[in-house]
Amino acid sequence: MVIIGGGLTAATAAETLRKEGYDGAITIVAQEPQIPYQRPPLSKGFLAGKEGEDALYPLPASWYPENNVSVLTATAATSLDPSAHTVTLADGTVLTYAKALIATGADPRQIPFPGVDLAGVYTFRTKADSVAMKELLTGGGKNVVMIGSGWIGMEIAATATELGNQVALMGLEEVPLSVAIGAQLGTVFTDRHKEAGVRFELPASAAEIQGTDGRVTSVLTTTGVTLPADIVIVAVGVVPNIALAKDAGLTINNGIQVDASLATSAPDVFAAGDVANAMHPVTGAYARSEHWANAIASGKVAAKSMLGQEAVLDDIPYFYTDQFDLGMEYSGFGALTKDAQVVVRGSLEKREFIAFWVLEGRVVAGMNVNIWDVQEAIKALISSGRTIDTAKLADPQTPLEAI
Ligand SMILES: Cc1cc2nc3c(=O)[nH]c(=O)nc-3n(C[C@H](O)[C@H](O)[C@H](O)COP(=O)(O)OP(=O)(O)OC[C@H]3O[C@@H](n4cnc5c(N)ncnc54)[C@H](O)[C@@H]3O)c2cc1C
Repeated sequence: MVIIGGGLTAATAAETLRKEGYDGAITIVAQEPQIPYQRPPLSKGFLAGKEGEDALYPLPASWYPENNVSVLTATAATSLDPSAHTVTLADGTVLTYAKALIATGADPRQIPFPGVDLAGVYTFRTKADSVAMKELLTGGGKNVVMIGSGWIGMEIAATATELGNQVALMGLEEVPLSVAIGAQLGTVFTDRHKEAGVRFELPASAAEIQGTDGRVTSVLTTTGVTLPADIVIVAVGVVPNIALAKDAGLTINNGIQVDASLATSAPDVFAAGDVANAMHPVTGAYARSEHWANAIASGKVAAKSMLGQEAVLDDIPYFYTDQFDLGMEYSGFGALTKDAQVVVRGSLEKREFIAFWVLEGRVVAGMNVNIWDVQEAIKALISSGRTIDTAKLADPQTPLEAI
């Protein structure tokens, strides 16, 4: 079994292969210098200095030798030949596989803003990025300009502010996060940031990143505002790492297209995690998820499929974020929320609520903010598919189980 990629998906797949009783050879080919790690702490506790290295590793370093799993760190796979069943590595080594898993994840989207090559301009994806940024932000007093108003941009903005830096954030939406959760709920997060002193320039992009002697000094927005900058972080989404799969002739469609068992168009080759665009049996549509829970769920399904078991990725998508004192969990089918009615149970003002998206009388997604231990009930409502009474849904006195 050859697993290409060194993220959470790769670790989960290797662990599942062993848990399911597979006792043959497993090799993980990991481009980054460390054993597989997970990314959520990179923009939160690890960046803030509240969590150490331990929070990063889903499996301890000892697990791999103990379970006879070979991890080739700092090693990129450069090609895959589905007919020969081989994977070639950067140093020319050729690995033969019975089954291969592509879990190459995603990389930050690069936009050629004028001045993007100046010193002090960063993207943010890896442990190395987080370590470097922690060093710059700790101690505070820096002007940080964030280009991008999605989850990662908002999380880093919160952490940088908590570390005592002055943050200005721009994005294409009128209200950050509104593409994902709508303007009303995006405002809850934005207001919390404003309270902490984050400055917003919206909607705006960067017209030019400006500098002196090769180092950034400011950012000129498309709305004509000049924002002073010691550090610029470009967080404008990610693109799936499909090069290897594309060169191998696999079907590409917003990532590597896979069926619900996570099989690609090539025999014995599977794909999972951020790179995979999987057919979801519930919605009947392809969806590529860029979230932690999907890395785990799809890593498990891919491993089972590699072993010839009948497995499908039919989980309800889930993700979470932490920004200042706002903790949030979301589960549901984002694609179905566009025309849905938002029903709120609890208080937006107090920032303690559950928001439900209701489409044709059925709950298709739910998000709890600073209310805990309700995810199982939310998921049960979604998967039941039953028609609900929105008045009961909005009423905190009615138990979710009774709706
Ligand atoms: C800063 C940050 C914070 C996040 N926070 C959250 C959160 O709070 N909640 C949430 O749900 N999700 C969060 N996410 C998203 C989540 O981390 C991703 O969904 C998850 O990392 C996907 O895992 P993966 O293993 O599929 O891909 P990745 O984590 O991208 O790992 C893929 C690995 O494969 C390597 N690779 C690529 N090509 C090759 C090759 N040819 N050969 C060998 N190796 C290769 C890459 O270098 C990388 O190490 C966050 C992401 C980031 C960056």
